[in-house]
Amino acid sequence: MPLTELDTPTLVLDLDAMERNIQRMAQFAAAHGVQWRPHAKLHKSARIAQRLVAAGASGCCVQKVAEAQAMAAGGVRDIYISNQVLAPQKLQRVAALARQLQQQGGRLALAVDSAQGVAGLAQALQGAGVPQAVEVFIEIDIGQHRAGVGPGAPAVALAQNIVRQRQLRLAGLHAYHGGAQHIEDGSQRAAAMQAAYALVRQTLEQLHAAGFTDLAVTGAGTGTFALEAASGLYTELQPGSFLCMDAHYARVQPVPQSPLPGPTHFEHALFIKTQVLSSCATHAVVDAGHKSHAIDSGLPMVWNQGQPPLYEFRNGGDEHGIVAPRVLHGALHAPVPALGQALWLVPGHCDPTVNLHDAFVGIRGGLEQGVVQEIIPIDARGALW
Ligand code: PLP
Ligand code: MN
Repeated sequence: MPLTELDTPTLVLDLDAMERNIQRMAQFAAAHGVQWRPHAKLHKSARIAQRLVAAGASGCCVQKVAEAQAMAAGGVRDIYISNQVLAPQKLQRVAALARQLQQQGGRLALAVDSAQGVAGLAQALQGAGVPQAVEVFIEIDIGQHRAGVGPGAPAVALAQNIVRQRQLRLAGLHAYHGGAQHIEDGSQRAAAMQAAYALVRQTLEQLHAAGFTDLAVTGAGTGTFALEAASGLYTELQPGSFLCMDAHYARVQPVPQSPLPGPTHFEHALFIKTQVLSSCATHAVVDAGHKSHAIDSGLPMVWNQGQPPLYEFRNGGDEHGIVAPRVLHGALHAPVPALGQALWLVPGHCDPTVNLHDAFVGIRGGLEQGVVQEIIPIDARGALW
């Protein structure tokens, strides 16, 4: 089907752009000798996770047990839950999934940040028939002040706790700084991460001194992945958004005078196709509101083929968007879009936007002349439990 015939509002994935983004990340990881395990919280699609593994990714990260189950059902064999799981009923599902994946030659690993979490996981694995010990990563707080034990001594104490459980194997540290990913100023973002790496280094030194060796370190998002790789501390990178690139990440600037790539190394690959339903002298109204795109990181950008936008997008409610020509030197920058015209939006935040849709419409050949190539199910849409 030519894209001109595609109904609206629709979540569109530009497969050509996504594949270029994948190649860039694969080349970067190979050049820096780190593994990459893209976060599936973005795409929530087993088919995409499989394509990333085919391109060299070590597996996928997920945030939720239900996401892990959806990825495993779609054939992904190496899954890391980069989050705490505490409820006994969830831990039973974890044990069943760990058994299934190990029997298929794969693995399920988890993050932990409490003695209670360690004990609960060990208890759920007892007698569950899981062939090998389940790998756990100690989450340390390196500056976001979200989850994680304190760096240094609290991490060593938790490590001692983990090695007492024969159902578990201490695999390493989970050190992710979510608060730094979207700092737009490159120097400020780099400074936040240098402080974070000092905490990772100090924790590793204390763990080594306590006899814990061979530790992997996993972390990083699209805003900082190159800095983690260059730190020499990390063995694995977890970025997700690089695959699609949202409008907010496009404003996150590279680190000045650094040869390392930042988020703008990647192309926008995720769009909402929308249509003008009403138009007047000052603005047009399109059929995409915040039921079709997330607004937590800002409103969508009206796509202008990579050039500065001609139109401003304003919130029109849950089913409407208001599109007005930008004013430049006192004059309208472009004509008000006409009734029936198609416009393409770049969502402000890709992860929660994807979670609003059942499928991606995968296209090739660009937004103007392109065609629909495949429908990619968003398997773990709404999988919050
Ligand atoms: N790792 C963890 C633990 C995360 O929470 C996230 C995103 O929130 C990511 C990786 C991926 O980050 P991004 O989508 O910014 O690349
Ligand atoms: Mn995000």
